[in-house]
Parts: sequence; C-alpha cells; structure tokens
Amino acid sequence: MSLKGKTALVTGSTSGIGLGIALGLARAGANVVLNGFGDAAAVIAEVEQFGARVGHHPADVSDPAQIAEMFAYAERKFGGVDILVNNAGIQHVASVEDFPVERWDAIIAINLSSVFHSTRLALPAMRNKGWGRIVNIASVHGQVGSVGKAAYVAAKHGVIGLTKVVGLETATSNVTCNAICPGWVLTPLVQKQIDDRAAGGVDPQQAQHDLLAEKQPSLEFVTPAHLGELVLFLCSEAGSQVRGAAWNIDGGWLAQ
Ligand code: NAD
Repeated sequence: MSLKGKTALVTGSTSGIGLGIALGLARAGANVVLNGFGDAAAVIAEVEQFGARVGHHPADVSDPAQIAEMFAYAERKFGGVDILVNNAGIQHVASVEDFPVERWDAIIAINLSSVFHSTRLALPAMRNKGWGRIVNIASVHGQVGSVGKAAYVAAKHGVIGLTKVVGLETATSNVTCNAICPGWVLTPLVQKQIDDRAAGGVDPQQAQHDLLAEKQPSLEFVTPAHLGELVLFLCSEAGSQVRGAAWNIDGGWLAQ
C-alpha cells in the first residue's frame, strides 16, 4: 500500500509506540509530522530514512492552544493532515485516595482531552478533501480496569467513547475513526512500571515476566512495529469499513 502524497500527524512520536507508528507510515510513503519531547533531531533522521518529508512540532498536547499551533504548522509545511494518530499519553500509578489531583488533571488532558482537540481541528480539512483516517491509541485499559490506574483507565474508556461518536458522525464519508487497544508494549512508559517492581528487590527479568504473566496470556510483548502495521491496515481500502471500532492487539489480555 502506498500513502505517497498523504501527511500523517502522530502525537507523542519521539518515543515508543508513536515512533513505531511514524516509522510504519513513513515506510509506506507518507510525510510525517512528529510531536513529543526529547531529542527531535535524532528521531527526524530515523524517520527520514524512508525518503518521506518529516517535520516535528513540540506542542505540549495538554494545551489546546499548542495543539492548534501544531495543526497550523502542518498546514503551512505539508498542506494539512490526512492521517491523525492520537498517541501521546502518560501514566501514573496510585490508589484513588492517594492519587495526586495534578496527575489526574494531566492524564485527562493529555490522554483524553487532546484527542478531542486534535480531532475537532483535523476533521474539517479531511471532510473537504474527501478522505481521512483518525486512529486513537487507547489501551486494553479502555475496556477493563486495573488497580492503581484510575485516571488512565477513565481517560482510555473516554477515548473509546469519543472514537465511537466520531466514527458515527463520519460514517457516510471517506473519513474513518477507530481506536487501537494494545496490551503490554515494552516502551519507556512500561519500563518504568517494571523498574518500580524491581525496586522492591525483585530480579528485573523476573519483574518483566511477572508483569506479563499477570495479564497477557501470550507472555510476549506487543511491539511498536505491530502497531504500525495495524495503523497501515486501517489506512488501507480494506480498512475503510472499520468504523468506531476498538481493536484489541493484546496477546489475549481481553479474551480472559
Ligand atoms: P512513551 O512514554 O514511550 O511515549 C510517550 C510519547 O508521548 C513520547 O514521545 C512523549 O514525548 C510524548 N508525550 C508525553 N507527554 C506529552 C505531552 N504533554 N505533549 C506531547 N507529547 C507528549 O509511551 P508509550 O508506551 O509509547 O505510549 C504511547 C501511547 O500508547 C499512550 O497513549 C499509551 O497510553 C498507549 N499505550 C501504551 C501501552 C504500553 O504497554 N506501552 C499499552 C497500551 C496503550
């Protein structure tokens, strides 16, 4: 499949899953607008290897004004956004009664409200062009809970709800909106949770095994490259009637 001539914006793509998706889209020929914190130059070079045009905007997606600036940048530099991947996300683990209010607000802003803001800014141009793909990186935690993850689970359930509504509101157009629900993917976000377990004196390899064994029957991680391939499928003609879905890719987590 070729995405030549299309432009993809992937939020939170300087690391982990977002970077894997950006690489998949670039390999298929799309121009890519990267977003996220950290060393943008190295990531731009990595994504540019496939010959696509690549830009980076440092918007903090907890701020709607910065999201709007990022879309203005994409319009100026690439003529707009055809594929929007809402991926940026953070985690904080604590019980509800100990959950810092500031962390709750940040998780809701970054993991949920940013999806609304990017979507409302992307849709008019997609409708005008007569084609668009919106893919929201939710989580298995958009469908089930886990202790200690109140804000994350609430935000991801919200993302799936929003995905359904946008899927319905675009149902008679060539714009689709879907969510992907990964299980464990070994990225910095999950490595921190493994490190927290190992900090209690558990061997790091054992901590990683325990993390998988608790939830993910395959006992293997999903990879950012797997997720990139699924995004490409949703961008393809064969994916055009997948609408408002929450697609599990979780080593069997949600089958239990
Ligand atoms: P990660 O920490 O590796 O990457 C997060 C990215 O988001 C980074 O590029 C970071 O710079 C960016 N980011 C963070 N805060 C931001 C902000 N305020 N504005 C803009 N960018 C910001 O995390 P990851 O594991 O790759 O997670 C990516 C997405 O996948 C998240 O939405 C996460 O909830 C979801 N997810 C992850 C897993 C997993 O097991 N890793 C499983 C299911 C869902």
